[in-house]
Amino acid sequence: MTNSQATEQTQKALVIGGGIVGIQCAIHLKKAGFNVQILERGQPGQEASFGNAGCLAVSEVVPMAMPGIIKHVPGWLLDPLGPLAIRWSHLPALVPWLWRFMRAGNWDQVERTSTAAAALMELTTDSWKDISKEAGLHNEIHWTGNITVYETEAAYKGDEAYWNLYRKRGVPFEPLTPEQLHEREPDLAPIFKHAVYCPSYARVSDPARIATRLADHFLSLGGEIISGQALDFTFNQNVPIAVRCADGREIFFDKVVVAAGAWSKTLARKLGSKVLLESERGYNTTLPNPGVRLNHPIMSAEGHFALSHLDIGLRIGGAAEFAGLDAPANFKRSKALLKLGQRYLPDLQEEGAKEWMGHRPSTPDSLAVIGASPIHKNAFFAFGHGHLGLTQAAGTGQVIADLASGQAPSVNIDAFSIARFN
Ligand SMILES: Cc1cc2nc3c(=O)[nH]c(=O)nc-3n(C[C@H](O)[C@H](O)[C@H](O)COP(=O)(O)OP(=O)(O)OC[C@H]3O[C@@H](n4cnc5c(N)ncnc54)[C@H](O)[C@@H]3O)c2cc1C
Repeated sequence: MTNSQATEQTQKALVIGGGIVGIQCAIHLKKAGFNVQILERGQPGQEASFGNAGCLAVSEVVPMAMPGIIKHVPGWLLDPLGPLAIRWSHLPALVPWLWRFMRAGNWDQVERTSTAAAALMELTTDSWKDISKEAGLHNEIHWTGNITVYETEAAYKGDEAYWNLYRKRGVPFEPLTPEQLHEREPDLAPIFKHAVYCPSYARVSDPARIATRLADHFLSLGGEIISGQALDFTFNQNVPIAVRCADGREIFFDKVVVAAGAWSKTLARKLGSKVLLESERGYNTTLPNPGVRLNHPIMSAEGHFALSHLDIGLRIGGAAEFAGLDAPANFKRSKALLKLGQRYLPDLQEEGAKEWMGHRPSTPDSLAVIGASPIHKNAFFAFGHGHLGLTQAAGTGQVIADLASGQAPSVNIDAFSIARFN
């Protein structure tokens, strides 16, 4: 049975959160025959989904917690503007997440994680291609592939296990010589000893525009976006039946999806489920007239940052900062990343630079939380996509619509269950 033949035609589904993940869930639920509302406290697509690097990183099947990563952490933390920072006032709250992160860094877990991620990536690739046709987004998504660059032999050798996982999961990639890299990316400084090209990767024209276009597509399908902040749920005989909003309104539903990005932990808790979810803050700078051109998204192996040429300019950023949801942004981090980018692109023009910070919703094992609540049959979770929320949003939406329609998803989603945090 296809989604559009789902039997629950008149049921009302409420999606909490209008980021890219919530919007994709809402579209898929609408196509499955539900009456769908998105409840969004601000404007759709204005949080993490607004200013990310815009990569459909469908080849990315390697978790952050790789064996051996821990030995790099002290060095990273010593550099206040390095690839990883922890605000010390946040450390006590972060300890359980960090502990689980360290435990995830073993080969058995990495194999399980990357197998689960690879299956979701296959689904999400197809799903993005379908939605792109359906919503007329062909000019917004460019399947260019990406390139990872290495300045040192040591870093290249150090990533052997990373590329082995790609090989094992059947993800295509191709090493490039410095000359081949120069042919593909003439504006990059000639400082790289190795590079690896992954053909399956794509970039979008502008992640904010993609979110807006998809929100419009959802509205055109007859969906509704309502304004309000979800605080809690109303239960009838232990079954959630409505969301209670900050302004006192109750919004009733038959099925509910928590897709509130980095803000989802409290809502999951209200539904009786614990989760280890942190805001992994990332920073970037967008240069509207960079004076240089990149033909592929470029990943820096040593610097742990990305350069992506969007239609709105060249975006340089990345890094991870654990400081919670409320601490003010530290834009020195954007500036530090821009400096690194200038080493790669010596002719870069800074005029009109715009800095940004966003909250990646991150779990310690790099797997999102996707699935039905183990407690309430009519509640579903779709959050925690970390570095890959734009990428995995389409596949997540598909899985959530299948589950809400009472169908088995086309990929095994056991590894994404919220029950792993019990
Ligand atoms: C620097 C950076 C670069 C990145 N690059 C990439 C990339 O290249 N590719 C990729 O795939 N991913 C990337 N990501 C990750 C990606 O941006 C996120 O994983 C993704 O945007 C998460 O989407 P979301 O819908 O879950 O969350 P969000 O976009 O944060 O949306 C959550 C929404 O829920 C709303 N909300 C929260 N609480 C409530 C409530 N109580 N009631 C109502 N509404 C609520 C918020 O207002 C928000 O609109 C990057 C992230 C960063 C920070």
